[in-house]
Amino acid sequence: MAVNQDIILREFRRIWGYDDFRPPQGEIVQTLLTGRDALIIMPTGGGKSICFQLPALLQTGLTLVISPLVALMENQVRELREKQLPAALLHSELLVGQRRQVFTAIEQQKLRLLYLSPETLLSPRLWELLCKPELKINAIILDEAHCLVQWGDTFRPAYRRLGAVRRSLMAAKPKGTKISFAAFTATADPLAQTVITECLELQQPQVFRLNPYRSNLNPSVRICWSSRQRYHNLLYFIQKKQKQPGLVYTRTRRDSEELASRLSSQGLVTVAYHAGLGGEVRRRIEGDWIEGKIPFVVSTNAFGMGINKSDVRWVVHYQVPLLLSEYVQEIGRGGRDGESADVLALVSEPTGWLDREDKRRAEFFINSMGETQKQALQLRRKLPQVGDIEEVSKRYPQAAIALAILHAQGYLYWQDPFKYTIRDNLAKKPQSPTDIGNAMHRYLYGRGCRWGYLLTAFGFSQGSDFRCGHCDRCR
Ligand SMILES: [Zn+2]
Repeated sequence: MAVNQDIILREFRRIWGYDDFRPPQGEIVQTLLTGRDALIIMPTGGGKSICFQLPALLQTGLTLVISPLVALMENQVRELREKQLPAALLHSELLVGQRRQVFTAIEQQKLRLLYLSPETLLSPRLWELLCKPELKINAIILDEAHCLVQWGDTFRPAYRRLGAVRRSLMAAKPKGTKISFAAFTATADPLAQTVITECLELQQPQVFRLNPYRSNLNPSVRICWSSRQRYHNLLYFIQKKQKQPGLVYTRTRRDSEELASRLSSQGLVTVAYHAGLGGEVRRRIEGDWIEGKIPFVVSTNAFGMGINKSDVRWVVHYQVPLLLSEYVQEIGRGGRDGESADVLALVSEPTGWLDREDKRRAEFFINSMGETQKQALQLRRKLPQVGDIEEVSKRYPQAAIALAILHAQGYLYWQDPFKYTIRDNLAKKPQSPTDIGNAMHRYLYGRGCRWGYLLTAFGFSQGSDFRCGHCDRCR
């Protein structure tokens, strides 16, 4: 839809009260209004949600916003509704009455923005409603698209079915209907970009990549020769920070609990945070941290999305993730206010002879990934060649994850979000779990500027000559 630039800007000013777009907001809005697919890599805090909210509000018809977490949807929908804008959300915890209200609003085409998780989107009753030919849908937005890369073939397999969503919706609508698809994420290296583009079946997407460099984030890596030394490095670092707000990342629930209790026993005020805690406990911890009652939390990757605290002065990785893009996402929680923040990664010495900790953990992750892939390939022989996910899940509880893995490896095609076909021949070379960890390894043990390496890894060409002047290598 061609919309006059003056109208766009007028609506933007009227709704949000800003003077003008921050680049590349204006270009993204234009792209979405013309109905093109897009992949947008834009750091958090860059005014990302406006880029899809404004086009949705300027058109008649519905835009679906797929988001991984209820808390994220609630924040955005609350802000929109405070401005009297036609937005709603659907999730499994809604009361029956609330749910019915949203369904009615969709049916009467009163909504412009509908927020929901991939799992809710694929719930049969809603899906049936969305497929009604007379219901106009303009666009699908995948927010926090890195979740597809991180979780799509583990515990959120519904992500892997989203490519078929657009295809099926278009097929259900009157001939010539176009539905655009745009994915937004804070970080994506070239590998993650390919995964997102292929999985969502984006059609020649316009790609917007904002440079991930942040001049106020000071990265450093410290090699540890024993687990004792790792702990003491952490302790020393935290004590120097003198109760400034921060975050410590571990990789497993158990590690976060053990480390938090060890630090607490030495008189530091902290708690563990992970997905195994109840929602109420988590909200309380988030609140206490935001208000400064707890200076830092020891967390798994469950902490972060939807929790906004701009003055985080430091981030320590007691253990690093396997994926470089996950790492960049996590350090990006530091210094959102633009003030300086120190980010430190503690890692085992590279040979793994003296301190086997990281090596053992990496092997464990790689083995368990390999194990799940093996199971998926075994299940492939038992599954019907053509089948329905609901039906095969009744017989094989692991089917949803297995189908997602088969899809990721190119063995499976979703005819629609529910029906699959398994192919005999591999459409592409599967990615080995070992390859995935290599970029992270090079970041930690490489010689050059940390930021220079990250820029190269994220596909920015100036990376190789880049010297930031404020990482541990440059200093
Ligand atoms: Zn540097």
